[in-house]
Amino acid sequence: MMKETKLFQLVSRENKHEDSIVLVNGPHGPIKIGQGYCTIIAGPCAVESWEDYLEVALFLKQSGAHILRGGLFKPRTSPYSFRGLGKEGLEIMAEARRITGMPVISEIMDLRDLDSLYQQVDILQVGSRNMQNYVLLEQLGKIDKPIFLKRGLSATIEEWLLAAEYIVSGGNSQVILCERGIRTFENATRNTLDISAIAALKGMTHLPVIIDPSHATGIARLVAPMALAAVAAGADGLIIEVHNDPPRALCDGPQSLTPKAFEELAGAIEAIRPYAHNYGTPR
Ligand code: PEP
Ligand code: MN
Repeated sequence: MMKETKLFQLVSRENKHEDSIVLVNGPHGPIKIGQGYCTIIAGPCAVESWEDYLEVALFLKQSGAHILRGGLFKPRTSPYSFRGLGKEGLEIMAEARRITGMPVISEIMDLRDLDSLYQQVDILQVGSRNMQNYVLLEQLGKIDKPIFLKRGLSATIEEWLLAAEYIVSGGNSQVILCERGIRTFENATRNTLDISAIAALKGMTHLPVIIDPSHATGIARLVAPMALAAVAAGADGLIIEVHNDPPRALCDGPQSLTPKAFEELAGAIEAIRPYAHNYGTPR
């Protein structure tokens, strides 16, 4: 029996002082996440159709995004909501990856989909609802693909780092943490964005930290200010929902930016980057 003191070890800053860099193997070679590279991941909540996804992907490519997002297997609160195109959507995503040359990220909910997602997706996302699915985490520790670990809806930072430890201790050190807002008493926003998690995590772990202002707020108008705050606070990047026609989105339309709003935000991010807080590691 191990004593319950040093809870997380491999992901701890004490164990490794230098910031970790996660290498994403995109179609045009590796992309780095970490050490303040400020990686922008963007795309719709879900892959909905060939036309919409390819259109928004091509737009995002020329407006400053580095990685494309798109849900295929969606965890929805209601079983009657749109739950993603599944394997059919994977073909659309693979085509967007091919024509844009951008790496892609999508959520894995079920280990039965691991083989097909592993073949076509560059980063596997573990959603908030699965942060404590330890069977899933253990299996993802055995593969050689970056894992994007979202914070659980009401997980403490320690619980979240312990979830990361499951993956890293299994042998996969390529873990990216994503703060996406936590449940609080506040209901003017969908969740409460824990900006302080960025600075707290920088002291506790060497893993990269990405902020998701879309799920954190649930309101498109709040996405740009929170994204800029996150960059200023020293986040290693952002994941932002963008839909070519948000009112028509099958999932998370109210929090999705229009392509034009995304383009403006990308410009503002570039302007603010020189002022981003530096935690003393190479940038
Ligand atoms: C998502 O990013 O597609 C998602 C479902 O987010 P979360 O797991 O943070 O709710
Ligand atoms: Mn969403």
